[in-house]
Amino acid sequence: MGNSFAQQFENLFIETEKGTKSISAWMREGILYVSIAEFAEALSLNYFENETTGKVELKSNYYLLKTSTNNPYIIVTPRSGGTPKVYQLPASTYLRSNKTFIPFPFSLAPLEIIVERELEFKKPNKLIVGKQISSPIEDKKWMYDIPDLPPTTGYDITGISITEKVNGTLIRVHSKSVIPSYYSSFENDELTIIFRKVNADVQKTSREGFSNLIKKIETRNVGADVEFKFKVGNEYSTSEVMNVPGSNDIVITIHNKIFSKTDQNKKNIEKWNFDVVVIDAGHGGKDPGAIGIDNLKEKDVTLAIALKLGELLKKEMQDVKVVYTRKNDTFLDLYKRGKIANENNGKLFISIHCNSTKKKPSDPSGAEVYLLRPGRTEEAIEIAETENSVIKYEDNPEKYEKLTDENFILVSMAHSAYMKYSEKFAELLHKEFDVNLKLKSRGVKQAGFYVLVGASMPSVLIETGFISNKEDAKFLKSAAGQNQVAELIFSSIITYRKYYEDAMNAEL
Ligand SMILES: [Zn+2]
Repeated sequence: MGNSFAQQFENLFIETEKGTKSISAWMREGILYVSIAEFAEALSLNYFENETTGKVELKSNYYLLKTSTNNPYIIVTPRSGGTPKVYQLPASTYLRSNKTFIPFPFSLAPLEIIVERELEFKKPNKLIVGKQISSPIEDKKWMYDIPDLPPTTGYDITGISITEKVNGTLIRVHSKSVIPSYYSSFENDELTIIFRKVNADVQKTSREGFSNLIKKIETRNVGADVEFKFKVGNEYSTSEVMNVPGSNDIVITIHNKIFSKTDQNKKNIEKWNFDVVVIDAGHGGKDPGAIGIDNLKEKDVTLAIALKLGELLKKEMQDVKVVYTRKNDTFLDLYKRGKIANENNGKLFISIHCNSTKKKPSDPSGAEVYLLRPGRTEEAIEIAETENSVIKYEDNPEKYEKLTDENFILVSMAHSAYMKYSEKFAELLHKEFDVNLKLKSRGVKQAGFYVLVGASMPSVLIETGFISNKEDAKFLKSAAGQNQVAELIFSSIITYRKYYEDAMNAEL
């Protein structure tokens, strides 16, 4: 078994005086996520879950708890009326098999209110339901209180900015005040978002006729709230609403469909054929990457594996074109790697790297697969920083925007149309490594890598092993080791291609 941080199935054991029940949970990035519907069921709470929108409501005698999928908020409202309390969680909820999963250890405070009992979470997966809380909403110290809104001078929401990307549109709602909560719904090609307890400059936020995807934005102030209505085209696929860290602004992303049922002509169907794989050998030329045991250079290992993988593809998958970002020991700007991939209409982008610790020799060992997403663990951030530091060798490093949390949201959301496919490939690769690689497989992780930012296609970054570890280095330096890594990547491509093509046939 690999040490997989992403998507490891667990149970949460709930202990009450009546006995123990277990419900579904998943471990992702070291955080235990629990199905909120199953939680409600286990504790006999009334609940409502909309499997399409991911909206969930839990009801107790006195309170109503609301959350929805891909949302970092849990809102608790007294049923007798009164101000909703908003909890901002450090991680978002997510949808899995039509169920909304909440980051459990962070959700205890609002859950205590709805359960009206003391809750004690014991790592890794036990919950003890304790004694009754008489008036939970007064007794509890709020994790995040809604700041008092300043007296309104003018408008809270002062404008919007719209960025069209290849695979969707980003709308940033500029707000001078904290937006305490929002609700969104989608019906009849219309996305409605209600921002609670703020008002908007209607003139500056209503727009028409500027995009194929978003035909019209209509804003109106309704009582204490603002309602935004987005009329969207039939290319619409999904949307997400998120707050921007360190700001009062909200970002709404509307994704277009990767595959469109309206594009029935041959040319467009061909557009999605699995016909080009882009292989990116990390580093090169004046940038050696990490330096490992016995002066082993990351750039040499990555190139060797890239070329071996390319040869396999050319031989065994002749209908697929192989594009290398580099074929020899040359330096290449990070952004150019994504550019090459896009210009060649790649259907899969694989960036090959080696990990290393500062200290050598050292114990950490094994392969990891990375997806482009805001990195949450210290370790992932460190690796991303090391890989991103390549830009110091470039002529114009200032062209890279700092990958702040905000930028991360924007770029990773722009990627999310492909995320399902990137995740699938990463998962297949991890499984293949886990079963067959001589080195251990450390699982699928997420972090922010510039090299993945630029590629508009499903993409992963592979840290093939630690060249700071004696055994890993020996393996990765050897032709046999390099061949094995290349072969396992190749066999994951075969499985992935089948999945991709089936998905395509289903969508077209
Ligand atoms: Zn690297």
